[in-house]
Amino acid sequence: MKKIRVLLLFSGGLDSILATKVLMEQGIEVKGITFKSYFFDAEQAKKAAKKIKLALKIVDFSKEHLKMVKNPKYGYGKAINPCIDCHILMLKKAKAVMKKEKFSFVATGEVLGERPMSQNKGALGLIEKESGLKGYLLRPLSAKLLKPTIPEKLGWVDREKLLDISGRSRKKQIALAKKYKIKKYPTPAGGCLLCDLEFSKRLRELLKIYPRCEGNDIGLLKLGRHFCFAKTKIIIGRNEEENEKIKKLKNKGDILIEMKNYPGPLTLVKNYSRLKISKSVLEKAKKLTQYYSTKARYERVVEFDIII
Ligand code: SF4
Repeated sequence: MKKIRVLLLFSGGLDSILATKVLMEQGIEVKGITFKSYFFDAEQAKKAAKKIKLALKIVDFSKEHLKMVKNPKYGYGKAINPCIDCHILMLKKAKAVMKKEKFSFVATGEVLGERPMSQNKGALGLIEKESGLKGYLLRPLSAKLLKPTIPEKLGWVDREKLLDISGRSRKKQIALAKKYKIKKYPTPAGGCLLCDLEFSKRLRELLKIYPRCEGNDIGLLKLGRHFCFAKTKIIIGRNEEENEKIKKLKNKGDILIEMKNYPGPLTLVKNYSRLKISKSVLEKAKKLTQYYSTKARYERVVEFDIII
């Protein structure tokens, strides 16, 4: 008899853990696939996979993902989260792995109606179609509320043992977690910076002043305090660790500022224009650097090191 092998999109959140368990319970061999980008990592998935003894494939699609984030076909959610396009991209990648590594089909932990943008019936259908997985994409947690897929029709999966969960209430998932003795699990989408409203503001501002931004620029959005003056940004480290990281992200044309005689932040003046950084912005950067040093804030004379 043909061994049924499924590739499951695994974030390490409760829904993906439950979807894995539901399929494993049917004797199906499950392998997880998870993704790394500039906006989320694979740590949560790695930890959860280890706990439930799930083999996991990690795919770094940072560059391709950023390209999609800049211009998503189906737009953004409440923050700058292009969830529909993001799912499509992940599933396209999963489809390629499915073909190459001879998996029978792909599954996800998506729940009908759980997320208004990307998990309503229309969006689930659209994602399936655009990913090229038509008929071969199973959502075990809501399968009974959706059209039967090819794995169900062919009897690879017993539809009767799949679930009919829908909506935003997590009651059924929490009951299932108890049944499977899963005690700790992260909040849904907790690890994605694109859902963070503060981060979204920073990213939108960056995309406006420098649409060609790359990984380094996104890295800087995660650090320090930000002040924007036309196409120049002043980024001020909030602690030693951030100062070190900021220093490493300096590019040609940027300037680093540090106080000579006082402890305090390291400031990066990040130049996103073709012009030189103006004297007035440099003066503002010095003032801000002094302001964010508790020792130097009220001093009259402060000297600075300027590293070009
Ligand atoms: S929450 Fe983030 S990782 Fe999840 S689908 Fe949306 S954009 Fe992608």
